[in-house]
Amino acid sequence: MNRVINFSAGPSQMSDKVLKKASEQMLNYNQTGQSIMEMSHRSAEFVEVFNSCKSKLIKLMNIPENYEVLFLQGGASTQFTMVPMNLLGKHKKAAFINTGAWSKKAIGEMKKFGEAVVVASSEDDTFSYIPKDYEVPEDVDYFYICENNTIYGTKYKELPDTKGLPLVADLSSCILSEAIDVSKYGIIFAGAQKNMGMAGLTVVIVRKDLIKDDTTLPSMLSYKVQADNDSMFNTPPTYAIYILGLVLEWIAEEFGSLENLGKYNQEKAQILYDYLDQSKLFKGTVAKEDRSLMNVPFVTGDAELDAKFVKEAKAKGMVNLKGHRSVGGMRASIYNAMSKEGVETLVAFMKEFEEENTK
Ligand SMILES: *Cc1c(COP(=O)(O)O)cnc(C)c1O
Repeated sequence: MNRVINFSAGPSQMSDKVLKKASEQMLNYNQTGQSIMEMSHRSAEFVEVFNSCKSKLIKLMNIPENYEVLFLQGGASTQFTMVPMNLLGKHKKAAFINTGAWSKKAIGEMKKFGEAVVVASSEDDTFSYIPKDYEVPEDVDYFYICENNTIYGTKYKELPDTKGLPLVADLSSCILSEAIDVSKYGIIFAGAQKNMGMAGLTVVIVRKDLIKDDTTLPSMLSYKVQADNDSMFNTPPTYAIYILGLVLEWIAEEFGSLENLGKYNQEKAQILYDYLDQSKLFKGTVAKEDRSLMNVPFVTGDAELDAKFVKEAKAKGMVNLKGHRSVGGMRASIYNAMSKEGVETLVAFMKEFEEENTK
Protein backbone atom coordinates (compact mmCIF):
# COMPACT_ATOMS: atom_id res chain seq x y z
CA MET A 1 0.00 0.00 0.00
CA ASN A 2 1.20 3.50 -0.82
CA ARG A 3 1.49 5.93 2.06
CA VAL A 4 0.72 9.57 1.30
CA ILE A 5 2.98 12.52 2.06
CA ASN A 6 1.02 13.99 4.93
CA PHE A 7 1.27 17.71 5.69
CA SER A 8 -1.36 17.61 8.44
CA ALA A 9 -1.04 20.18 11.24
CA GLY A 10 -2.02 17.59 13.84
CA PRO A 11 -2.52 14.78 14.47
CA SER A 12 0.24 14.48 11.96
CA GLN A 13 2.49 12.19 9.99
CA MET A 14 4.54 9.66 11.93
CA SER A 15 7.68 7.80 10.92
CA ASP A 16 6.92 4.51 9.15
CA LYS A 17 9.54 2.92 11.38
CA VAL A 18 7.60 3.83 14.52
CA LEU A 19 4.31 2.57 13.09
CA LYS A 20 5.90 -0.66 11.91
CA LYS A 21 7.47 -1.35 15.26
CA ALA A 22 4.15 -0.67 17.01
CA SER A 23 2.34 -2.99 14.62
CA GLU A 24 4.90 -5.76 15.14
CA GLN A 25 4.38 -5.48 18.89
CA MET A 26 0.64 -4.94 18.74
CA LEU A 27 -0.55 -8.43 19.69
CA ASN A 28 2.38 -9.59 21.73
CA TYR A 29 4.55 -7.03 23.48
CA ASN A 30 7.97 -8.46 24.39
CA GLN A 31 6.76 -12.06 24.67
CA THR A 32 4.09 -11.16 27.24
CA GLY A 33 1.28 -12.48 25.05
CA GLN A 34 -0.46 -9.13 25.55
CA SER A 35 -0.78 -5.83 23.79
CA ILE A 36 0.43 -2.75 25.69
CA MET A 37 -3.22 -1.70 25.60
CA GLU A 38 -4.24 -4.73 27.62
CA MET A 39 -1.72 -4.37 30.41
CA SER A 40 -2.17 -2.94 33.85
CA HIS A 41 -0.44 0.40 34.10
CA ARG A 42 1.08 -0.96 37.33
CA SER A 43 2.48 -4.10 35.74
CA ALA A 44 6.25 -4.52 35.72
CA GLU A 45 6.24 -4.52 31.89
CA PHE A 46 4.37 -1.24 31.59
CA VAL A 47 6.26 0.46 34.42
CA GLU A 48 9.42 -0.35 32.44
CA VAL A 49 7.91 1.22 29.28
CA PHE A 50 6.91 4.28 31.31
CA ASN A 51 10.26 4.73 33.05
CA SER A 52 12.27 4.19 29.93
CA CYS A 53 10.14 6.68 27.97
CA LYS A 54 10.57 9.26 30.69
CA SER A 55 14.32 8.80 30.98
CA LYS A 56 14.73 8.95 27.19
CA LEU A 57 12.87 12.27 27.13
CA ILE A 58 14.98 13.64 30.00
CA LYS A 59 18.15 12.58 28.21
CA LEU A 60 17.18 13.84 24.76
CA MET A 61 15.90 17.23 25.99
CA ASN A 62 18.60 17.48 28.63
CA ILE A 63 15.98 18.25 31.31
CA PRO A 64 17.66 19.40 34.55
CA GLU A 65 17.00 17.60 37.83
CA ASN A 66 14.97 20.42 39.30
CA TYR A 67 12.19 19.74 36.78
CA GLU A 68 9.35 17.26 37.02
CA VAL A 69 8.17 15.47 33.86
CA LEU A 70 4.45 14.68 33.87
CA PHE A 71 2.52 12.49 31.42
CA LEU A 72 -1.05 13.79 31.58
CA GLN A 73 -4.26 13.74 29.58
CA GLY A 74 -6.67 16.44 28.47
CA GLY A 75 -4.51 17.84 25.68
CA ALA A 76 -2.55 21.08 25.66
CA SER A 77 -5.92 22.78 26.14
CA THR A 78 -6.26 21.45 29.69
CA GLN A 79 -2.98 23.20 30.50
CA PHE A 80 -4.69 26.50 29.66
CA THR A 81 -6.65 25.78 32.87
CA MET A 82 -4.07 23.90 34.94
CA VAL A 83 -1.42 26.59 34.59
CA PRO A 84 -3.44 29.41 36.19
CA MET A 85 -4.95 27.06 38.79
CA ASN A 86 -1.49 26.00 39.93
CA LEU A 87 0.59 29.10 39.27
CA LEU A 88 -1.44 32.13 40.20
CA GLY A 89 -0.21 33.49 43.51
CA LYS A 90 -0.35 36.78 45.30
CA HIS A 91 -0.96 38.92 42.21
CA LYS A 92 -3.74 36.83 40.67
CA LYS A 93 -2.45 38.16 37.34
CA ALA A 94 -0.46 36.76 34.44
CA ALA A 95 1.19 38.45 31.45
CA PHE A 96 0.63 37.20 27.90
CA ILE A 97 1.87 37.85 24.40
CA ASN A 98 -1.02 37.28 22.04
CA THR A 99 0.30 35.56 18.92
CA GLY A 100 -2.88 33.92 17.71
CA ALA A 101 -5.65 31.42 18.30
CA TRP A 102 -3.82 29.23 20.82
CA SER A 103 -2.57 32.07 23.00
CA LYS A 104 -6.05 33.62 22.84
CA LYS A 105 -7.56 30.42 24.14
CA ALA A 106 -5.00 30.33 26.94
CA ILE A 107 -5.86 33.95 27.81
CA GLY A 108 -9.59 33.15 27.77
CA GLU A 109 -9.22 30.24 30.18
CA MET A 110 -6.83 32.11 32.47
CA LYS A 111 -9.35 34.95 32.85
CA LYS A 112 -11.64 32.55 34.70
CA PHE A 113 -9.10 32.59 37.53
CA GLY A 114 -7.57 36.06 37.48
CA GLU A 115 -6.54 39.02 35.37
CA ALA A 116 -4.78 38.64 32.04
CA VAL A 117 -2.36 41.41 31.09
CA VAL A 118 -1.77 41.24 27.33
CA VAL A 119 1.56 43.04 26.95
CA ALA A 120 1.71 42.74 23.15
CA SER A 121 -0.25 41.31 20.25
CA SER A 122 0.24 40.75 16.54
CA GLU A 123 -3.46 40.61 15.84
CA ASP A 124 -3.21 43.91 13.92
CA ASP A 125 -1.50 41.99 11.09
CA THR A 126 -3.23 38.60 11.15
CA PHE A 127 -0.62 37.30 13.60
CA SER A 128 2.01 37.25 10.86
CA TYR A 129 4.85 38.21 13.21
CA ILE A 130 6.10 37.84 16.79
CA PRO A 131 5.86 41.09 18.78
CA LYS A 132 9.22 42.18 20.16
CA ASP A 133 8.41 45.45 21.88
CA TYR A 134 6.77 45.29 25.27
CA GLU A 135 7.21 45.97 28.94
CA VAL A 136 7.29 43.14 31.44
CA PRO A 137 4.97 44.01 34.33
CA GLU A 138 6.21 43.38 37.85
CA ASP A 139 2.88 42.61 39.49
CA VAL A 140 2.11 39.34 37.69
CA ASP A 141 2.71 35.73 38.73
CA TYR A 142 4.04 34.41 35.41
CA PHE A 143 4.68 35.27 31.75
CA TYR A 144 3.01 33.19 29.04
CA ILE A 145 3.84 32.56 25.37
CA CYS A 146 2.85 30.16 22.62
CA GLU A 147 6.31 29.44 21.20
CA ASN A 148 5.35 28.09 17.78
CA ASN A 149 2.09 29.26 16.31
CA THR A 150 0.76 26.26 14.44
CA ILE A 151 -1.96 28.15 12.56
CA TYR A 152 -0.02 31.26 11.51
CA GLY A 153 3.44 29.75 11.11
CA THR A 154 5.38 32.06 13.43
CA LYS A 155 7.99 31.04 15.99
CA TYR A 156 10.00 32.81 18.68
CA LYS A 157 13.67 32.73 17.67
CA GLU A 158 14.58 34.29 20.99
CA LEU A 159 12.69 33.81 24.23
CA PRO A 160 11.37 36.93 25.96
CA ASP A 161 13.41 38.30 28.84
CA THR A 162 10.83 37.85 31.59
CA LYS A 163 12.88 39.70 34.25
CA GLY A 164 12.82 36.71 36.53
CA LEU A 165 9.15 35.80 36.11
CA PRO A 166 8.49 32.13 35.40
CA LEU A 167 8.13 31.64 31.65
CA VAL A 168 5.23 29.36 30.73
CA ALA A 169 5.35 28.15 27.14
CA ASP A 170 3.07 26.11 24.91
CA LEU A 171 5.45 24.02 22.77
CA SER A 172 2.78 21.76 21.30
CA SER A 173 3.95 22.22 17.72
CA CYS A 174 7.70 22.66 18.20
CA ILE A 175 8.74 20.38 21.05
CA LEU A 176 11.60 18.04 20.02
CA SER A 177 12.11 20.00 16.79
CA GLU A 178 15.42 21.46 17.98
CA ALA A 179 17.61 21.63 21.08
CA ILE A 180 16.33 24.02 23.75
CA ASP A 181 17.57 25.17 27.13
CA VAL A 182 14.88 23.85 29.47
CA SER A 183 16.29 25.85 32.38
CA LYS A 184 14.98 29.05 30.76
CA TYR A 185 11.39 27.92 31.29
CA GLY A 186 9.14 27.61 34.32
CA ILE A 187 6.70 25.30 32.57
CA ILE A 188 6.77 23.69 29.14
CA PHE A 189 3.74 21.80 27.93
CA ALA A 190 2.79 20.09 24.68
CA GLY A 191 0.11 17.82 23.31
CA ALA A 192 1.78 14.74 21.84
CA GLN A 193 -0.03 14.59 18.51
CA LYS A 194 2.34 16.85 16.55
CA ASN A 195 5.93 15.89 17.28
CA MET A 196 5.60 13.27 20.00
CA GLY A 197 3.32 10.65 18.54
CA MET A 198 -0.37 10.25 19.07
CA ALA A 199 -3.21 12.22 20.63
CA GLY A 200 -4.17 11.43 24.22
CA LEU A 201 -0.90 12.32 25.94
CA THR A 202 0.18 15.75 27.16
CA VAL A 203 3.74 16.22 28.35
CA VAL A 204 4.27 18.83 31.06
CA ILE A 205 7.76 19.80 32.21
CA VAL A 206 7.51 21.90 35.33
CA ARG A 207 10.17 23.44 37.56
CA LYS A 208 9.81 21.82 40.95
CA ASP A 209 9.69 25.05 42.96
CA LEU A 210 6.58 26.10 41.01
CA ILE A 211 4.64 23.04 42.19
CA LYS A 212 2.62 24.29 45.10
CA ASP A 213 0.85 22.31 47.76
CA ASP A 214 -2.73 23.52 47.43
CA THR A 215 -5.14 20.86 48.65
CA THR A 216 -8.14 22.87 47.45
CA LEU A 217 -7.22 22.09 43.83
CA PRO A 218 -9.05 19.20 42.12
CA SER A 219 -6.62 16.27 42.40
CA MET A 220 -6.44 15.57 38.66
CA LEU A 221 -5.63 19.23 37.98
CA SER A 222 -2.95 19.55 40.64
CA TYR A 223 0.70 19.37 39.53
CA LYS A 224 1.54 18.36 43.11
CA VAL A 225 -0.81 15.37 43.11
CA GLN A 226 0.32 14.33 39.63
CA ALA A 227 4.01 14.69 40.55
CA ASP A 228 3.64 12.89 43.90
CA ASN A 229 2.03 9.97 42.07
CA ASP A 230 4.51 10.00 39.15
CA SER A 231 1.61 10.66 36.72
CA MET A 232 -0.16 7.52 37.98
CA PHE A 233 -2.80 9.10 40.20
CA ASN A 234 -5.17 7.43 37.77
CA THR A 235 -4.60 5.36 34.63
CA PRO A 236 -2.20 7.31 32.41
CA PRO A 237 -2.54 7.20 28.59
CA THR A 238 -0.52 3.99 28.40
CA TYR A 239 -0.47 3.39 24.66
CA ALA A 240 0.37 7.03 23.86
CA ILE A 241 3.28 6.87 26.34
CA TYR A 242 4.52 3.69 24.67
CA ILE A 243 4.31 5.43 21.26
CA LEU A 244 6.26 8.42 22.59
CA GLY A 245 8.93 5.95 23.71
CA LEU A 246 9.15 4.60 20.15
CA VAL A 247 9.31 8.14 18.72
CA LEU A 248 12.16 9.02 21.10
CA GLU A 249 13.98 5.83 20.12
CA TRP A 250 13.51 6.71 16.46
CA ILE A 251 14.90 10.24 16.97
CA ALA A 252 17.93 8.86 18.84
CA GLU A 253 18.63 6.27 16.14
CA GLU A 254 17.95 8.51 13.16
CA PHE A 255 19.47 11.80 14.35
CA GLY A 256 21.40 11.11 17.56
CA SER A 257 20.54 14.44 19.17
CA LEU A 258 18.11 17.34 19.04
CA GLU A 259 20.99 19.52 17.76
CA ASN A 260 21.25 17.30 14.69
CA LEU A 261 17.51 17.06 14.27
CA GLY A 262 17.28 20.85 14.56
CA LYS A 263 19.82 21.22 11.74
CA TYR A 264 17.88 18.80 9.60
CA ASN A 265 14.63 20.68 10.25
CA GLN A 266 16.33 23.97 9.39
CA GLU A 267 17.59 22.65 6.06
CA LYS A 268 14.26 21.00 5.35
CA ALA A 269 12.23 24.17 5.93
CA GLN A 270 14.77 26.24 3.99
CA ILE A 271 14.04 24.23 0.84
CA LEU A 272 10.45 25.43 0.96
CA TYR A 273 11.20 29.00 2.09
CA ASP A 274 13.88 29.46 -0.60
CA TYR A 275 11.40 28.44 -3.23
CA LEU A 276 8.65 30.70 -1.81
CA ASP A 277 11.03 33.68 -1.76
CA GLN A 278 11.61 33.55 -5.50
CA SER A 279 8.23 32.25 -6.66
CA LYS A 280 6.08 34.52 -8.79
CA LEU A 281 2.93 32.65 -7.84
CA PHE A 282 3.25 31.56 -4.21
CA LYS A 283 3.99 33.83 -1.28
CA GLY A 284 4.83 33.07 2.34
CA THR A 285 2.55 34.92 4.79
CA VAL A 286 4.95 35.43 7.70
CA ALA A 287 7.68 37.95 8.61
CA LYS A 288 10.94 36.31 7.52
CA GLU A 289 12.69 36.56 10.88
CA ASP A 290 9.79 34.83 12.66
CA ARG A 291 9.27 31.88 10.34
CA SER A 292 8.36 28.54 11.86
CA LEU A 293 10.35 25.43 10.96
CA MET A 294 7.28 23.27 11.50
CA ASN A 295 4.31 25.06 9.93
CA VAL A 296 4.67 26.91 6.64
CA PRO A 297 1.62 28.85 5.41
CA PHE A 298 1.59 30.22 1.85
CA VAL A 299 -0.92 31.67 -0.60
CA THR A 300 -1.32 32.49 -4.27
CA GLY A 301 -3.63 35.40 -3.52
CA ASP A 302 -6.41 33.77 -5.52
CA ALA A 303 -8.76 31.50 -3.55
CA GLU A 304 -9.75 29.49 -6.62
CA LEU A 305 -6.15 28.84 -7.56
CA ASP A 306 -5.41 27.83 -3.96
CA ALA A 307 -8.23 25.29 -4.07
CA LYS A 308 -6.99 23.96 -7.39
CA PHE A 309 -3.50 23.55 -5.96
CA VAL A 310 -4.74 21.65 -2.91
CA LYS A 311 -6.83 19.37 -5.10
CA GLU A 312 -4.06 18.62 -7.61
CA ALA A 313 -1.53 18.05 -4.82
CA LYS A 314 -3.88 15.55 -3.25
CA ALA A 315 -4.16 13.67 -6.53
CA LYS A 316 -0.36 13.38 -6.40
CA GLY A 317 -0.39 11.92 -2.89
CA MET A 318 0.33 15.14 -0.97
CA VAL A 319 -2.50 15.60 1.50
CA ASN A 320 -3.75 18.02 4.16
CA LEU A 321 -2.27 21.12 2.51
CA LYS A 322 -5.34 23.31 2.92
CA GLY A 323 -4.59 26.30 5.15
CA HIS A 324 -6.40 27.04 8.39
CA ARG A 325 -9.70 28.83 7.77
CA SER A 326 -8.43 31.96 9.54
CA VAL A 327 -5.44 32.37 7.17
CA GLY A 328 -6.72 30.74 3.97
CA GLY A 329 -4.41 29.46 1.25
CA MET A 330 -2.18 26.55 2.06
CA ARG A 331 -0.18 25.32 5.03
CA ALA A 332 2.50 22.67 4.91
CA SER A 333 3.15 21.24 8.35
CA ILE A 334 6.57 19.64 8.21
CA TYR A 335 7.10 18.12 11.63
CA ASN A 336 9.98 15.81 12.56
CA ALA A 337 8.57 12.81 10.71
CA MET A 338 8.44 14.73 7.40
CA SER A 339 11.54 13.94 5.37
CA LYS A 340 13.54 16.35 3.21
CA GLU A 341 12.45 14.25 0.25
CA GLY A 342 8.82 14.92 1.21
CA VAL A 343 9.43 18.67 1.09
CA GLU A 344 11.41 18.37 -2.16
CA THR A 345 8.50 16.51 -3.73
CA LEU A 346 6.15 19.29 -2.66
CA VAL A 347 8.45 22.00 -4.04
CA ALA A 348 8.84 20.16 -7.35
CA PHE A 349 5.07 20.06 -7.67
CA MET A 350 4.77 23.75 -6.73
CA LYS A 351 7.22 24.62 -9.53
CA GLU A 352 5.23 22.59 -12.00
CA PHE A 353 2.00 24.20 -10.84
CA GLU A 354 3.54 27.65 -11.06
CA GLU A 355 4.66 27.07 -14.66
CA GLU A 356 1.23 25.84 -15.68
CA ASN A 357 -0.67 28.62 -13.96
CA THR A 358 1.30 31.76 -14.80
CA LYS A 359 1.43 33.41 -18.17
C1 LIG B 1 -2.57 21.71 18.64
C2 LIG B 1 -2.25 22.80 19.58
C3 LIG B 1 -2.96 22.99 20.78
C4 LIG B 1 -4.15 22.16 21.16
O1 LIG B 1 -3.78 20.93 21.62
P1 LIG B 1 -4.85 19.90 22.19
O2 LIG B 1 -3.96 18.77 22.59
O3 LIG B 1 -5.80 19.58 21.09
O4 LIG B 1 -5.54 20.54 23.33
C5 LIG B 1 -2.54 23.99 21.63
N1 LIG B 1 -1.50 24.78 21.32
C6 LIG B 1 -0.81 24.64 20.17
C7 LIG B 1 0.34 25.54 19.88
C8 LIG B 1 -1.17 23.64 19.27
O5 LIG B 1 -0.48 23.51 18.12
